[in-house]
Amino acid sequence: MTIKQPNSTITPFNKKLTAPLSKESIRVLQINVGKRCNLACKHCHVEAGPKRTEELSPENCEELITLIYKFSQIKIVDLTGGAPEMNYGFKPLVEAAINTGKQVIVRSNLTIYFEDGFANFPDYFARHKIRIVASLPCYLADNVDKIRGNGVFDKSIKALQWLNQLGYGKNPELILDLVYNPQLPINDKFTLTPQQARLEEDYKLFLQENFAIVFNNLFTIANIPIGRTKFYLERNKLYTPYLQFLESNFNPDTVESLMCRDQLSIDYLGNIYDCDFNQMMALPAKTASRKTMTVRDLITNGNLDLIKIVETAAYCYGCTAGSGSSCGGTLIPE
Ligand code: SF4
Ligand code: SF4
Repeated sequence: MTIKQPNSTITPFNKKLTAPLSKESIRVLQINVGKRCNLACKHCHVEAGPKRTEELSPENCEELITLIYKFSQIKIVDLTGGAPEMNYGFKPLVEAAINTGKQVIVRSNLTIYFEDGFANFPDYFARHKIRIVASLPCYLADNVDKIRGNGVFDKSIKALQWLNQLGYGKNPELILDLVYNPQLPINDKFTLTPQQARLEEDYKLFLQENFAIVFNNLFTIANIPIGRTKFYLERNKLYTPYLQFLESNFNPDTVESLMCRDQLSIDYLGNIYDCDFNQMMALPAKTASRKTMTVRDLITNGNLDLIKIVETAAYCYGCTAGSGSSCGGTLIPE
């Protein structure tokens, strides 16, 4: 894809669209169970870390379980955090989703299995056939440790080998996907996220040859300019130039497949958003009458499809630049 030169101002994202971004029938429930994490990565949009204490309460967890049981239209329950394994409610939510025949995705940082009390998780994931989407922002140790902390690459490799031994990446029922995040820019020579299919080949070759690791898919996910990424960009006077770069590479063909269209994102308090990025920016989803909602409202209304239009902001250019970006990687063929 040709990289375009930026304009000098930023167009409001909704002005870039030919029509308001409409919501489709909800299929995916992405639940952010809390901000506690054993790592504190430089690019983290959640600003998660070991000192964060926000997590699901037992009451909010019960409501989420009711929601999962009530709506058969939910096909996927996607659990994120923080390190979701560390936050209250993870296992009860997994089990509610499995009992109702839904696919479960866990967004795992891999290193958590080496913390006290968490070594049983790989077995637990395999037993419940949970799809693991694991962060490995690069296949080179230095780059990973620079973003995520010293020793993270080695632990990630050991975790991947462990998951392979359990059948992940080999048994078709045990899916192991990896996530690539670009390095944070060091100057205004920005680049789009590399081609996903080609990078997946490189990852597969390198991890197989050097560590005998296999996995299913690589998802390339752009750095969305919010959270720690935004602080970093602001500190380096790159925030506005990065947004301008993203806008200048806006690709209208990505809009159809944006992840916010058929998912609800839920925070540890039970508030509803269109995506995890809006959640972190405190931009709640709204009904046609511009009301915000909680899990309890959805249960009371007996309707998951109360949102007609997705709330958008300038950082949506991060999802729509080039081939697009989502929690499932690029949005259109490259
Ligand atoms: S990016 Fe993931 S692993 Fe890193 S601090 Fe944030 S939630 Fe934790
Ligand atoms: S940040 Fe991305 S996923 Fe979220 S509302 Fe904007 S375009 Fe949709």
